[in-house]
Amino acid sequence: MLNSLIYNRLYTWYEINHRILPWRETEDPYFIWLSEIILQQTRVAQGMEYYLRFIARWPKVEDLAAADEAEVLREWQGLGYYSRARNLHKASQMIVSSQKSQVESGEQSAYSFPKTFDEIRALPGIGDYTAGAIASFAYNLPYPAMDGNVYRVVARLLDIDEPFDTTAGKKRFHKEIELLLDRANPRLFNSAIMEFGALYCTPVLGDACETCPLNEICLGHLHNTAELLPVRKPRPKVRDRWFTYHIYVQVKKENEAYTLIQRRENPKDIWYHLYEFPYEEHADEPTTEMTNAQSPMTHIVHVLSHQKIHARFIVHRVQKMPEIPGTMLIRWDDLDDYALSRLTLRALDTMRSILPR
Ligand code: SF4
Repeated sequence: MLNSLIYNRLYTWYEINHRILPWRETEDPYFIWLSEIILQQTRVAQGMEYYLRFIARWPKVEDLAAADEAEVLREWQGLGYYSRARNLHKASQMIVSSQKSQVESGEQSAYSFPKTFDEIRALPGIGDYTAGAIASFAYNLPYPAMDGNVYRVVARLLDIDEPFDTTAGKKRFHKEIELLLDRANPRLFNSAIMEFGALYCTPVLGDACETCPLNEICLGHLHNTAELLPVRKPRPKVRDRWFTYHIYVQVKKENEAYTLIQRRENPKDIWYHLYEFPYEEHADEPTTEMTNAQSPMTHIVHVLSHQKIHARFIVHRVQKMPEIPGTMLIRWDDLDDYALSRLTLRALDTMRSILPR
């Protein structure tokens, strides 16, 4: 009874207010998957551009599987959290290799995206939320899709002050959303509650509750706790790291400039397989004597979810390139062909007036 009331009010609101988003206008699971991975930790406006580029360049899962990882990372450049791109690529290859023999023998006419929640959930880079989103949006299967917006709406509707990001909290919220889910219309339910959280029941409420279609039954509103919800567990301490990057510039004849770059090779560290200028990491904040005062330099503080990178970029104009193991010599103009870390892009932008064009 209460659920039917929530569905009626929510769907009416959704009908009038929802945004037209290309990934909500399709039932193609591959497109929905791309959009969901791109939109993790990314705003819709920024993600849209990447989504359109990805589907234009790799319109089918087998196209993405056939791409080089470097190309995928290059296309992902600027979005951050590069493990998402690597997993996307790896998952596409797993899908293709598991169906290759059936497609080649003609037993199956084309490659297809997995169709059950468990098969989708088993792909790299896919957690419960993304599996639920693909299963419901593409196949209308009755699985919830709990993103941050949905946690907020559920916490407020039911006045839950337990942190939603602990194991026990996740279990509790999952149980509640299972009870709330509209099993007859999971696609519509998930779309509507997510959009309602994204556009209406937002972190800062203002006077939204006064005219909210759910205010008569929203316990957070009735108990005056809505603005305090949802509750998170205390954040882990952010780790400070200090890097000194060296931008070597060698200008050869006809004004052709060269530089050295290297690829990050530690899969457990940040920016795995992205390219940067050679650097050293310091155990502590470096002293100023470590810098050659004659060289142009810039400082950038780059904040990631659990790390704060304090970076210094020093430009060295050289006649002869130093020999640094693990680096490669490239033409300056070819820098664009490599997937560079966001920090490197920021440095190039900040120092553009003193770097080759
Ligand atoms: S009444 Fe307020 S807190 Fe409750 S669902 Fe509506 S906007 Fe959110």
